[in-house]
Amino acid sequence: MGFAEFIGNHETIERVREMLARARFPHGVILSGPAGSGKYLLTQMIAKTMNCLNPPPGPLPDFCGVCTSCQEIAAADDFETKFEEAVEAREGLRETDKKETRIFLQTHPDVLIIPPDPPQMMIKVDQVRHVIANIYKRPRMGKHSIFIFTTSAMMKEAANSLLKVLEEPPEYATLFLLTTNPGEFLPTIRSRCITLQLAPLQPQEIESLLAKRRFDWPAPTRSLVSRLSGGAVGRALSFDLETYTAARKDALTLLNSALTAQDHSDLFRTTEGYRAGAEGKAKTDQLLRAIYTLLEDMLYLKSGTPQLVRNADIAPEIAKLAALTDFEWLAAASQRLGEVEAGMRRNVLRSLSLDAFAAALERQPA
Ligand SMILES: [Zn+2]
Repeated sequence: MGFAEFIGNHETIERVREMLARARFPHGVILSGPAGSGKYLLTQMIAKTMNCLNPPPGPLPDFCGVCTSCQEIAAADDFETKFEEAVEAREGLRETDKKETRIFLQTHPDVLIIPPDPPQMMIKVDQVRHVIANIYKRPRMGKHSIFIFTTSAMMKEAANSLLKVLEEPPEYATLFLLTTNPGEFLPTIRSRCITLQLAPLQPQEIESLLAKRRFDWPAPTRSLVSRLSGGAVGRALSFDLETYTAARKDALTLLNSALTAQDHSDLFRTTEGYRAGAEGKAKTDQLLRAIYTLLEDMLYLKSGTPQLVRNADIAPEIAKLAALTDFEWLAAASQRLGEVEAGMRRNVLRSLSLDAFAAALERQPA
């Protein structure tokens, strides 16, 4: 138990523990790192340490993991499950109540988790208002109150309200803002926070971790997953290669169609399978991530760094596609992909925007 369980990013963890050792912990902390790099895990560990009733002795602060406080906080360790439960609970409400209910996770009186609110999957102003209504009350267990925003996708009004809290936070409270891209926050929010970075691990580090924790996987699978996980421990350990491979197959169809095909029947058959709703969203997210890794791999090939290719098992196929592109096309494709993602946040009909994406990428005859 304790910080020793956090894998990688040793220096950042040391820095966090040194900050915890000092009496004043920053009130605003931006924690940035790729999906699955342990941002949420780390904030949970910090929350436990700040509120642990029986902290283990040692040169730097730590948490016991077994006291009531640690256990209450740990009840939200599995974020995905807790989040789904909260969303389902809201679905069960009467229509009028549903509209006014925002999603929160809370398993400890002084630790409030603020996830993105569906269907837009953004932080909404009512969520920040709820934080404001609670942050100026003293922590009930008497130690430190913690507010964890799990995404930087925020409605404009929500971001402005958050800024006001960060301007005058009470001494006993800390707001954690988790993000894959700190640039998404208003500069005025960034300037009121300290930023901590969880760097991706090297593929070799991930591979040796998988050899210990996923020894049931065949060695070639471990090797491939260590590349595909993008250096994120959480992603690597829970990697679903079958789902990823299925998404990648569709991603290849889409890119092939954009780059070579005269007729788009394959493409439309593929995008037909992507529909709105929660399940459709998960599937589309997978597809977009697969397209993203393929575009990135093409860029590695074109820039003469084939050793960085992540989809190493299909490198020849990617090389063929890459030969049909240039840097300009790859840059445009990445930008369009970002637009599709933004469109999904606004809940645009999914298959439609995928078709438009592929159409927009078609190579114009020179
Ligand atoms: Zn404890």
